[in-house]
Amino acid sequence: MFLSKLFLPITKNLPSDAKIKSHQLMLRAGMIKQSSAGIYSWLPIGLKVMKKIEEIVREEQNKIGAQELLMPTIQPAEIWKESKRYEDYGEEMLRIKDRQGREMLYGPTNEELITDIFRSSIKSYKSLPQMLYHIQWKFRDEIRPRFGVMRCREFFMKDAYSFDVDEANAKISYNKMFYSYLKTFKRLGLQAIPMAADTGPIGGDLSHEFIILAETGESKIYTDKSIFKIDVNNYNFDIKSLEKMRNDFSSVYAATDDKFEQIKFDKLVTKQNQIITKGIEVGHIFYFGDKYSKPLNCFIDNKDGKKNSVKMGSYGIGVSRLVGAIIEANYEKEVMKWPKSISPFDVVIIPSISKNNKENLTKSLKLYDDLKKQNIDVLLDDVDENMSQKFKKHDLIGIPYQIIVGSKSTESKIEFKEINSESSFIDFKEVKSKIKS
Ligand code: ATP
Ligand code: MG
Repeated sequence: MFLSKLFLPITKNLPSDAKIKSHQLMLRAGMIKQSSAGIYSWLPIGLKVMKKIEEIVREEQNKIGAQELLMPTIQPAEIWKESKRYEDYGEEMLRIKDRQGREMLYGPTNEELITDIFRSSIKSYKSLPQMLYHIQWKFRDEIRPRFGVMRCREFFMKDAYSFDVDEANAKISYNKMFYSYLKTFKRLGLQAIPMAADTGPIGGDLSHEFIILAETGESKIYTDKSIFKIDVNNYNFDIKSLEKMRNDFSSVYAATDDKFEQIKFDKLVTKQNQIITKGIEVGHIFYFGDKYSKPLNCFIDNKDGKKNSVKMGSYGIGVSRLVGAIIEANYEKEVMKWPKSISPFDVVIIPSISKNNKENLTKSLKLYDDLKKQNIDVLLDDVDENMSQKFKKHDLIGIPYQIIVGSKSTESKIEFKEINSESSFIDFKEVKSKIKS
């Protein structure tokens, strides 16, 4: 892609409510445009990043055997009345009437709908376990939408649901998701900490929020430095190992505000190891047994001939929130650096051009074609601007690698720079391995 052709409406004027870096940067770099409070259009660069995140989430869900489907955004009110959540959900639910006067709603989550799909087709224990997920827009009429894509009214979420014959099996599904989440966040360049979360009126200990540390986060968190030593890559995808992984995490103190206990914290974590900071919730997993399957009559014939309610869990990842969260985690000193796994481009070529010197541009075009042939997604900055303006712009766009074509580069050696570090001269042949390593 040529920068001159790219739809990248860079803006300088920021609205006064853009208080945190990710919100400011996404607006400045033309990644999103607000259409109304808490509702955004995703412009090409923003959408590209979000799609890459979505794809990583999808791959990691598929790896643990979850199957993708797609449920609609608009749901009938009936199933929510069956679960008794239609009233409880309150004003956060956007309620709509169709032309026949039927009550509908824009889905804030999908427990009811997936249970309805499940109950109408699965009747026997032999078909279990199952894990189903979709990646779809949600709507919650948040009272104070803020922080750009982090707390929106319309947002993009991966939500998965597990179905098991009993609690013991449901915990196995839960652990698989736990594992998948850690793998996903790692691939996104994030260190997400699983924290035991409140389960509300259902009780039990099986709910975890996945939180990344960030000063701008909304949740206050308390944990022990040693939690960073637990590495998901040291565990295997088998029942025993996954259980050990979750036990290892549970043995280290990690809590958000609502579960925090000062006495326990001081007793279990040495002063030097205590971390008290803020964090952003990027995922949330939940085991809730038959909270929905019972009222919705989702029963299966069990081995012993009895009918049992299906034991369920639900598992969310905020795909659109992650775009903002990743910026918060990576933005430093006015420079953005995307993790390569989700960068809008693999590399940018920045030639020094002027009216009477087009030589660098010609050289760059050749490099551009060569990189394209190697399947590298490359942006060529062919805009007629001085180099300092260009560098400023690329600090904002955040492509992690730059090739600078100026007087210093020769036929055989080119100037290569990783954003936020010094440049060096390398052989053109080395570019691919540098970018892809
Ligand atoms: P929060 O506590 O941040 O309000 P929640 O607990 O209500 O979130 P869940 O129902 O657990 O959210 O949703 C799963 C994931 O969806 C969250 O972990 C978060 O990443 C994302 N998410 C939830 N609400 C929003 C929102 N208003 N805007 C963007 N992403 C959201
Ligand atoms: Mg949550």
